Amino acid sequence: PAAALLGWYDRQARVLPWRAAPGQPPPDPYRVWLSEVMLQQTTVAAVQPYFAKFTLAWPTVAALAAADEGEVMAAWAGLGYYARARNLIACARAVAQSGGAFPDTEDGLRQLPGLGAYTAAAVAAIAFGRRAVVVDANVERVVARLYAIAEPLPGARKAIRARADELTPDERSGDFAQAMMDLGATVCTSRAPRCLLCPLAEWCAGRRAGAERYPVKAAKQAKPLRQGRAFWIAQPGQVWLVRRPGKGMLGGMRALPDDGWSARGDGSGQLPLPGNWRSLGTVRHSFTHFDLELQLMLYSPEDWVSLGAEQGEWWAIDRLAEAGLPTLFAKAAALVLAS
Ligand code: SF4
Repeated sequence: PAAALLGWYDRQARVLPWRAAPGQPPPDPYRVWLSEVMLQQTTVAAVQPYFAKFTLAWPTVAALAAADEGEVMAAWAGLGYYARARNLIACARAVAQSGGAFPDTEDGLRQLPGLGAYTAAAVAAIAFGRRAVVVDANVERVVARLYAIAEPLPGARKAIRARADELTPDERSGDFAQAMMDLGATVCTSRAPRCLLCPLAEWCAGRRAGAERYPVKAAKQAKPLRQGRAFWIAQPGQVWLVRRPGKGMLGGMRALPDDGWSARGDGSGQLPLPGNWRSLGTVRHSFTHFDLELQLMLYSPEDWVSLGAEQGEWWAIDRLAEAGLPTLFAKAAALVLAS
């Protein structure tokens, strides 16, 4: 199957800005690493403009290591899973400190901050041509179907990994990893897989059994709903923004002040200032483990009170797009600006 898949990849590989063409020398490890971090939990289409923006602003790992943290966080805004951006900076700095080159083995890469098993394997294979077993969600789906693995996820991960290991060739392991990703993204899609176009069809047990049944998933639990409040405190032309604490949800990002929904989640938070508040409505946002309903409160001051400068800053409302607000707060701001 590996040879058939590589042959298909030679003809069908997606052209992506962080990739080398099939069979060509590996691309710059910095670009491979950056793309893999961005692609976790995010689609190729969503990543492309961010990848272009980052490589323009910080073309090398040394440039990213020297970057201002706030600027990097702002450039990441909208891509989600902000811990990835914090790890990105920490990792770039660790690489810069140890001479500026990425380690060229899976074990060496694994030592870097924020590099999990998947990313280390992907970078080792794609950027350094090392044999590594690279299993992302796409690969998981392809392998579960290929072998009609009946055990549900997440328990099936071990079996899927063992099968992926058997499939991975010693040569062209980077191309093989990317070929599996491409197959999962374009042919063996979660819905309506195109088995007639698939180079692995003749080996595929899942196809005969009804491919869409795989991977089998454990019954989903409903996501809890949390409620909270965010505060729009404005003076003419400006709004008060805070920087969220480094750890925790949306950590390190600029944001509207809120009542700590992420900690308590019961919407019982206090108003930050005494005075006249009115509710403008709510925005909903879905995080991985919960949905959030955020009530947006507007402050109409009678007197200006001083707000602790160490906690936040006045930000020009017509430059709000440059504040790098995460999607949740960008939605809240849009609600105010549309009212
Ligand atoms: Fe997926 Fe169908 Fe190919 Fe099997 S034959 S790997 S189910 S696309």
